Amino acid sequence: MAKRTPKYIFLVGGVMSGVGKGVATASIAKILQSRGLETTAIKIDPYVNVDAGTMSPTEHGEVFVLDDGTECDQDMGNYERFLDRDLTKTNYMTTGSVYLSVIQKERNLEYEGKQVEVVPHIPLEVITRIERAAAKAKADIVITEIGGTVGEYQNILFLEAVRMLKIRKPTDTILILVSFVPALGAGGTELKTKPTQYAVRTLNSAGLQPDIVLARAGASLDQRRKARISLNCNLQIRDIISAPNVESIYEVPTNFEKDKLGDRILEKLSLKHRDHDLRDWKRLVSIVRTAKKTVKIGIVGKYFGSGDFILTDSYISVLEAIKHAAYHWRRKPVIEWVASEEFEKYPRSVQKLSEYHGIIVPGGFGSRGVEGKIAAIRYCRERKIPYFGLCYGMQLAVIEYARTVLGLRKAHTTEIASKAPDPVIDILPEQRKNVAEKNYGATMRLGAYPAILKPGTIARAAYGKQQISERHRHRYEVNPRYIERLEKKGMVFSGQSPDRRLMEIMELPRDKHPFFLGTQFHPELKSRPLRPHPLFREFIRASLRR
Ligand code: GLN
Repeated sequence: MAKRTPKYIFLVGGVMSGVGKGVATASIAKILQSRGLETTAIKIDPYVNVDAGTMSPTEHGEVFVLDDGTECDQDMGNYERFLDRDLTKTNYMTTGSVYLSVIQKERNLEYEGKQVEVVPHIPLEVITRIERAAAKAKADIVITEIGGTVGEYQNILFLEAVRMLKIRKPTDTILILVSFVPALGAGGTELKTKPTQYAVRTLNSAGLQPDIVLARAGASLDQRRKARISLNCNLQIRDIISAPNVESIYEVPTNFEKDKLGDRILEKLSLKHRDHDLRDWKRLVSIVRTAKKTVKIGIVGKYFGSGDFILTDSYISVLEAIKHAAYHWRRKPVIEWVASEEFEKYPRSVQKLSEYHGIIVPGGFGSRGVEGKIAAIRYCRERKIPYFGLCYGMQLAVIEYARTVLGLRKAHTTEIASKAPDPVIDILPEQRKNVAEKNYGATMRLGAYPAILKPGTIARAAYGKQQISERHRHRYEVNPRYIERLEKKGMVFSGQSPDRRLMEIMELPRDKHPFFLGTQFHPELKSRPLRPHPLFREFIRASLRR
């Protein structure tokens, strides 16, 4: 068989961050995949943390978890969702992880007595990792997103890797600058290209010339603006791609194709022309655009206090999973954030949950807002409002049940009350040592584990199979000592680890409640736009019956 020579595409940001580089990367991957090319995507985060697991979601957004347990950036979730592929740790690196392996190699004498230098050894390690990811995915195309913005000190070594790879493989490597074109003037109609010109010059001073500029802006770029960027940035007009704001991120791939981005990339990488097939994707986009009837879902959590942007980023996979399931039922999702602390201050305010079709309590850590979440869960259970608990949301549902139905008024999780008389949620035995020794990095129960589903349950019917695999990120579990008592009072553990030791899914029978279900794992991490997660799908279905 002919040896595969993958092509390399790099994306870097210009002017400022937060303009959707991750979605742009995922969308380019999608339009190339839709041409029958096996495409994989890599995220580089230019910080010293070895992975994203030690960062607060309010700082950095959601911690996404892969099957192999890698805790990584939320952009990896977009890649998986757009490509419908499961990625692995080879698809993710940080400055910290790259340095860590170079230093480990040095300690193992793998540099054979040479002096190990920041340049070239750090960029070489980056290139090796990208090649490894390509081989692992058997990819025709590897798209690598470099975090941060050109001109920042942090990502210069990654740009150096691009420069070195371009020398090595000039016809197989291209660089795309995702720039921002601000609008000024009355009504914000005057698009300003100067910042983009400066960004390109900054790249030039790192020895790099972009092959394509993606111009992010509120509106489409007109020919005059394109001509100006072309002339000043040494690019042909057709290599300036207009990337205006769109209503849904799922419109971005088809939008890129309007400016023939896929064809431009193929030509630059000396690949022969191929037509794209985005039919399924376009069907989804048309539902996103035309769905009129709504489904209103409340997410109950602690209030982070910094506005919607932060919340959206912290729970992006939950939001996307709700959307996928809503689109499946041709509904327009309306998702609202409900601060649980309010229920602690004003207990009666919990009544406002009846405005929603369904309620979710997502994953979380620590004590803030927990009693409010428990009050919300009780209200949903007693008022028969569809409830879906994700990880912490499952654990708190078990606590609520133990307190109200079993009468164990002091039932709690030892995460909050280490001396609780009834620790219905307790630390996993293998986690005890990690917490005692403050060994927090990448030590939770992480990644994919199998579970066996009980016949005749909501979970079993939703998945339509007996064994599943789902992704985890937790240190606590349902305490085995309480399981019999909980079951006697009607709680059903419909998903369990194959050895029956760990409770993976909890639910109430359908004749008691239309949908009251929680998972110890994070189903949101495996929902895909065209393949909504079965439990989200059923949760939305139950919500629509309300
Ligand atoms: N804090 C809980 C635990 O560690 C839940 C974690 C989560 O929701 N991801 O078990």
